[in-house]
Amino acid sequence: MKKDLTFGMPVDIVAIGTLEERYVSEKTNPVVLEKYTIGVGDRFAHQAKAQLAACMRAEARGATVIPVWNKSNREHKIVGSIPASTRAAADAAVRELGWKHAHYVDADHINLDTVGAFLDVCDFFTLDVADAIGRPPAPGAAESFLARHPELAGRIEIPGISETFDISREAALKAATKYLGAVAEAGRIYRHIAGKKGAGAFVTEVSMDETDSPQTPPELLIILAAIADEKIPIQTIAPKFTGRFNKGVDYVGDVEQFEREFASDIAVIAHSVAAYSLPANLKLSVHSGSDKFSIYAPIARSLRKFNAGVHVKTAGTTWLEELIGLAEAGPEGLATAKEIYRGAFEHLEELCAPYATVIDIDPARLPAPDAVDKWTGEQYAGALRHDQKNPLFNPHLRQLLHVGFKIAAKMGARYLDMLVACEASISRNVTENLYSRHIEPLFLKG
Ligand SMILES: [Zn+2]
Repeated sequence: MKKDLTFGMPVDIVAIGTLEERYVSEKTNPVVLEKYTIGVGDRFAHQAKAQLAACMRAEARGATVIPVWNKSNREHKIVGSIPASTRAAADAAVRELGWKHAHYVDADHINLDTVGAFLDVCDFFTLDVADAIGRPPAPGAAESFLARHPELAGRIEIPGISETFDISREAALKAATKYLGAVAEAGRIYRHIAGKKGAGAFVTEVSMDETDSPQTPPELLIILAAIADEKIPIQTIAPKFTGRFNKGVDYVGDVEQFEREFASDIAVIAHSVAAYSLPANLKLSVHSGSDKFSIYAPIARSLRKFNAGVHVKTAGTTWLEELIGLAEAGPEGLATAKEIYRGAFEHLEELCAPYATVIDIDPARLPAPDAVDKWTGEQYAGALRHDQKNPLFNPHLRQLLHVGFKIAAKMGARYLDMLVACEASISRNVTENLYSRHIEPLFLKG
């Protein structure tokens, strides 16, 4: 595989240190994450301006939605990029468009092994401790935790939740045993980052979403009490919600149950902030896997009802708009988009393996590359664009291309040059998608 660490990024990497220092010093200390924030992914670091343009459109309509550029270590490895390139692209977009509010760069899903490369350039850290769920805590830790927190067993009433929970001591002990190891791990990662960057210089998120079963309200309460005990100044928490959050396609699950769960989580957070002196702006983070359109209205309703904030992470949706923009830009762009589909089709298994739990592709529903080669730009865009009303839309093709960015990464400069050549078509699609399909339904509707 071709390895090009800077990946042809038009970045002044030498200037990053200075930019970061200036940027952080302009912020309040501690850094306090705003109420409405949207996580935007930008696989190839070429769409920051088009993404920020969507936030500016929201601002013109009266909603301040703060952009957070998130990119995980896994994405960086697949693309062959470094976190500094995300920071450079984000800062350049903010400068060029004159964005007056904050922006962040999120070290998404990091742990102690992977956080190193993100430390200098990120001001938002998502501590992924899902793998540590179920790891046995230190002997006696669960017992002393419950002795410290007798309120977590017995009858639990949480303002805003009509249901009361009767939690036996045994059940509370079991839940504490399940989650304390993960929270302890979050504490280790947090202290490592704070030791390098200084406490208060960054936003801390704890994520437990990449696991099998959703956390119940009493479990979330236990987790937040434990996080407070670890003295982690957590500002966002990403629990696992009911239902499937497959990459790039809509939510699959019981929408009403999701809405109840989401509202309960908000209530648990409000209760925990008061009970355990957690940061007052603590809010939910939804790792959407992009494009969970059918839960946007329930989320928006809950936010209004509880006057709560939220962070919604999207990621691959922008990369797919790059492909749509290419397909619509003319023969050369369309040829590139077709070449990427063929590559993805031929490397189906390899591309899907790292994402096996978050995609549902039926290979029988994937068009043959020879057939796609005959498509017009309109057909390609129609199959890929996430418009469920369009008969051309094919969610199997969309999911495959969602995980297919490695194919574009392997094309190297040839792909990046094409992004530049087709910029007008691509940025129109990127901005329109982020604004109309995500920001508007979440933050401006109803
Ligand atoms: Zn996630």
